[in-house]
Amino acid sequence: MRVDFNVPISKNKVVDDFRIVSSLPTIKHCLKSGAKIIIMSHLGRPGGKVVPEMSLISVGELLADLLEMPIKFSDDCVSEDSHDVTLGLRSGEIHLLENLRFHSEEQNNEKEFSSKLAKHGEIYINDAFGTAHRSHASNNGVTKYFLNKGMGLLFEKEFEYLSKKLTKPNKPLTVVIGGAKIDTKLDLINHFLTSADNILIGGGMAFTFLKARGIETGNSLVDSTMVKEAKSILNRARNKTNLLFPTDAVCAKTVENTKSAKIYNIHDMPSNKCGLDIGPNTIKQFSETISKSGTIFWNGPMGVFEIEGFHHGTESIANIIGDLTENNVTTIVGGGDSVSAINKFSSFEKFSHVSSGGGASLELLTGNPLPSIYALEL
Ligand code: AMP
Repeated sequence: MRVDFNVPISKNKVVDDFRIVSSLPTIKHCLKSGAKIIIMSHLGRPGGKVVPEMSLISVGELLADLLEMPIKFSDDCVSEDSHDVTLGLRSGEIHLLENLRFHSEEQNNEKEFSSKLAKHGEIYINDAFGTAHRSHASNNGVTKYFLNKGMGLLFEKEFEYLSKKLTKPNKPLTVVIGGAKIDTKLDLINHFLTSADNILIGGGMAFTFLKARGIETGNSLVDSTMVKEAKSILNRARNKTNLLFPTDAVCAKTVENTKSAKIYNIHDMPSNKCGLDIGPNTIKQFSETISKSGTIFWNGPMGVFEIEGFHHGTESIANIIGDLTENNVTTIVGGGDSVSAINKFSSFEKFSHVSSGGGASLELLTGNPLPSIYALEL
């Protein structure tokens, strides 16, 4: 089973277990069916050599805690010893292999390495949605050695929500986008310009759009290299989709200077302050549009949610969207900082789907084929 246990680790402890917890349904399903499970994953970018800080040992310890059972571990994913451990495995036991990327052959998708990985099992399951847009040995080359192969439950759910449910959404479809880096969200915005009924833009990136509309944004985050692209999006959105921007913002002299924070209309932002959260009027307007939607996709915080005082916009939007799930609205959250925000202000159960993947979800959302799905020959 290929999983995505690429989690942050500090001082030999897993800092965020979201990806591990997301894989548990598939692991538990296989355990219940009496399988012997061999689990493989990458962690970080060790560059084809052993980097002790990027070992999967602490991941194995957490997995053992979560499943309340011992787990066997091999310190080399393709050594003879590791194959021996696999051979000695009994039904209902788990064998975790050390970081695949300690071998450069993994990312080079090398044949011999793939065949050594394949020696560990008879059935291949890919539950590593986070790497689905890459062609590596463990999610591509290896599949050729298996007759029986398929997606894990997490992978299937990601595919269901990010591809099927957003291609044929319950209308109206509202897309809420925020965060700081506008260049990383351009593909997403461009894609939804043709399919979404409403696109609501908040967070730091909204100021590049406001600048493109000729509004003075003070010291707010503006990516001057993107103003032209923002203008082009504004032009293309006309008559196609309802594009909404903040009408007010919580502004402060600096992100540290929370005492200087005040709410301003977007047309009256002082030149010595920067916008660090959407204001109450914007929350109200965004909320009215969100509440009338059949499907909502949310990616990126509405403000600097990590800092008390600039968190209200993100917290409110998380709760407004989360509360709609029980009214049969499809609510999808797409990775990254919005996931941290849900962790902080809400809970995963409040949403139809919270995606675990960054790059892979973006590829799937924008309609690009994922090579690891093709490799499964479904
Ligand atoms: P991204 O990785 O592009 O989704 O950006 C996430 C980051 O955007 C978070 O760390 C937020 O603190 C930051 N952010 C959100 N709104 C603003 C803003 N108005 N000004 C500066 N940073 C922001």
